[in-house]
Amino acid sequence: MFPKNLIIDCDDTLWENNRFFLDAHERFVSLMEARGYSRERANSLLLRLEMENVSRYGYGARSQAMSMADVYRLLEPEPDEAVLRTIDKIGESVFHHPVCLLPGVEETVPKLAGRYTMVMYTKGNPEEQLGKIEKSPLREYFHHVRVVPEKDRRAFRGVLDELGLLPDETWMIGDSPRSDIIPAVENGVRSVFIPFSMTWQHEHTTLPPSEHIITVEHFGNLEALLL
Ligand SMILES: [Mg+2]
Repeated sequence: MFPKNLIIDCDDTLWENNRFFLDAHERFVSLMEARGYSRERANSLLLRLEMENVSRYGYGARSQAMSMADVYRLLEPEPDEAVLRTIDKIGESVFHHPVCLLPGVEETVPKLAGRYTMVMYTKGNPEEQLGKIEKSPLREYFHHVRVVPEKDRRAFRGVLDELGLLPDETWMIGDSPRSDIIPAVENGVRSVFIPFSMTWQHEHTTLPPSEHIITVEHFGNLEALLL
C-alpha cells in the first residue's frame, strides 16, 4: 500500500554534503603538516575531538571548524592568530558550499510532490541547513521543513506528532542508517535506505533485517517504488 507522507533527509540524500567536510578535514590535516605535525596525529585528533564535541558544538561546518581550532590549540598551546583565521575560513567555505543535487533528485522530487505530503528533515545548525534548503531548487516541493539538533527516535516521534502524520501512512527516505532509518523503524515507519558512498562514518551502523526497510541504489529509483 502506498503511503501518504514522505519524510526525506537532505544531506547526502538530496544533495552532496559530506564530501565538503572531508575536503575541509584534509585541508586542516595539510595545514597542521605544514607546521610540522604528522598527518596521522592531526587526523586522529580531529576525528576524536569531533565526536567528543558533538554534544557541545552540535553538527555542521562551524562545529567542525571549532574542533579544528581545538586540535590546533592542543598541538600548539600558544596559537598563531593567522592559523586560527585560516581554520575559520575553512569552516566558512564549507558553511557556504554550493548545493549539488544527487542523481535523479531534480527529476523525481517534483513528481513525488504531486502525490505526497513532503517533509524535509535534517539535523544541524538551523542557519546552515536552511541556507542550503533556500539555495536548492527544491524548497517549493516541500510542505514542511524541520531542522533538529539530533535525529533520534524521540526527535522523529516529535515530527510525526507535530505534523499529525500517522506512522503507517508515512515513509522515511535517507542515506544514514543511524539518523534516518533506525529512528523511523523504531517509530513503526517504513524506510527507504539509499546508501551513499560518502556518508559520514559516524552515521554508519548495522541495519537490522526488517521488512520495514527497502534499499534502493539512487534517488531516481523512488519513481518505480512510489509513483
Ligand atoms: Mg543524510
